[in-house]
Amino acid sequence: MIAAMLLVTPLGHGAPGTAKQLATGQSEGGDLVLRCGLLINGLLDEPLADQLVTIQAGRITSVESFDNVRGKITDSAVMNLSGFTCLPGLINTHVHFDTNPEDAADYGIYARRTFGQNLRLILDNARTTLLTGFTTVRHVGAWFPDAVYQARKLIDQGQAMGPRILTAGPYLTIPGGGGDLTFPEIPPDQIPSESQQGIASTPAGFATRAEAAILAGADFLKVIASGAVFSIGTEPGAPEMTRADIEAVVKVARKYGKQVTAHVHSDQSGQDAILAGVDSLEHASLLEDDTIVLARDHGVALSMDVYNGTYTDTVGRQQGYPAVFLERNTATTETQRVVFEKAYKAGVTLLYGTDAGVLPHDMGGWQFTTMVERGMSPMDAIRSATSVAAEHLGLDSDIGVISAGKVADLIAVRGNPLENTNTLRAVEVVVKNGFLIKTSNALPQ
Ligand SMILES: [Zn+2]
Repeated sequence: MIAAMLLVTPLGHGAPGTAKQLATGQSEGGDLVLRCGLLINGLLDEPLADQLVTIQAGRITSVESFDNVRGKITDSAVMNLSGFTCLPGLINTHVHFDTNPEDAADYGIYARRTFGQNLRLILDNARTTLLTGFTTVRHVGAWFPDAVYQARKLIDQGQAMGPRILTAGPYLTIPGGGGDLTFPEIPPDQIPSESQQGIASTPAGFATRAEAAILAGADFLKVIASGAVFSIGTEPGAPEMTRADIEAVVKVARKYGKQVTAHVHSDQSGQDAILAGVDSLEHASLLEDDTIVLARDHGVALSMDVYNGTYTDTVGRQQGYPAVFLERNTATTETQRVVFEKAYKAGVTLLYGTDAGVLPHDMGGWQFTTMVERGMSPMDAIRSATSVAAEHLGLDSDIGVISAGKVADLIAVRGNPLENTNTLRAVEVVVKNGFLIKTSNALPQ
């Protein structure tokens, strides 16, 4: 699936002899000059042709027409991406690095993995995610939040390869709820204590858990308003946390200037979460028309995993996911896609989010095509994963757009993704913070 090679040294000024550490760090930035055949900057409605992007110390210093500099720069200093389209580094607002899709065939794995194994899994998934073009992710809840904090730290320090991670820490969830690690395969006395940090059953209890998560390092908070599709003994639609529970979490988040996102399938819990003041909803599968309008009017964004149903139905069946998961998947997939169509038409803010963890981490770019099939313009689909996501996350002064002054996160795909969104499934060039992380074997070496 990935037809490209990985460079293990950054191209600092294009000098191969000046080998530095693996190009992972955010504390320092690299230098690079790219010539992009087309450039989608993340904001404009139309792509720009033949642009030169100059990067110094991890920031974009200029974006200009190549004609302006023709003859003034030496070709050898420029990475020639003439047959490619450059875009801002992608942002996925719905990932879980401490799970893989095949875990759904046996959730007992979560009681057997050690902290070290969880950390390795998270770092493997983080690396894969970066190599598929996602330079920033929102990690919306973990069963192993401490391992995610550790992975975030290693990546930030440049000791491991991965995207910029914003993490919610633990799931805030009721006992036995969609975020509680209570599965038939796991005996109650073997449920890892690390997974229990967000469990409460009253507003006061949730406030305490929310505050603890922020003090432990959460960048935002995640509530399980209603149960998961892949759960045992709970209904996907049934509200779990009450509006008062969610309000208590939102109040704590606001005190610290943090956002709250809610896992929601049912219409009722969608309404509860919106009225409780959350900033975004994941899934939003069963929202009715009035609730879609309510989301828009309250400025609540939706992060909908509209490709996943297809993956689960094919691969999940082969891998032997429990029958109840497959039935629920079938029941929610088409409904959710119709909600997506309506939400787009209504002008709701839509954030690119794939529920990676349920979807394999190397398939982050597969959802663009489904979004377009369901009525979204290709440019809006790209903006949902770049400028729109960055703005929602409060990171738009740094990322989400290719323009002078921004952090140099950008990717390139062969051809034109506005004509064929499937090109975003095979990102061939990845630059994070000015470091070349991945380059195409189609380029002259
Ligand atoms: Zn999720």
